[in-house]
Amino acid sequence: MEEQRLDCPICGGKNSLVIINNKIDIPYFGPVLETTIMCEKCKFKRSDVIPLEVRDPKKYTLKIKNEKDLFKRVVRSSSSFIYIPELGVEITPGPLAEGFVSNVEGVLDRVDKVLDTLIRWAETEEQKKKGEEIKQKIKDLKEGKGEATLILIDPLGHSAIIGEGVEEEILDEKEVEKLKEGININIIDNKK
Ligand SMILES: [Zn+2]
Repeated sequence: MEEQRLDCPICGGKNSLVIINNKIDIPYFGPVLETTIMCEKCKFKRSDVIPLEVRDPKKYTLKIKNEKDLFKRVVRSSSSFIYIPELGVEITPGPLAEGFVSNVEGVLDRVDKVLDTLIRWAETEEQKKKGEEIKQKIKDLKEGKGEATLILIDPLGHSAIIGEGVEEEILDEKEVEKLKEGININIIDNKK
């Protein structure tokens, strides 16, 4: 683990921005660099994961059917798209996207946390109800009940789902170009 300090570009804090680089070796994937940037003063925080070896742009599909599937590893870089169609979940890349090394359960936990925020800010009863319904489906999945599909697509090849039963497809150039446009659109949206 390697630590570095800088002035924070957001709040201007002197040496308050801590940058931590951590190299992790992931079996069946390879070495990745996990970077966390954190300001002690304004609490700005960002993390990302980038593989240290060149990898193919790929689409990974996993049918979550039982508790064993929850422990399959997920490497999520900020350049990836995550879809769980059965839950209506879509996580898009962009500068605000967080990268992480976790497992399927960890991805579900992150979605669950986002839902809590959405429910808290919901403007209608219907939105609240919808959020609660998805939360219940996540709870069921975590108990090995129900099924869902986890799809992870990374046009830069920085992400993966690793484990038995995971379907892998290499993206062709056309798909990669289209998805990269999606990343740009997202960046513009976030600036609004
Ligand atoms: Zn700061």
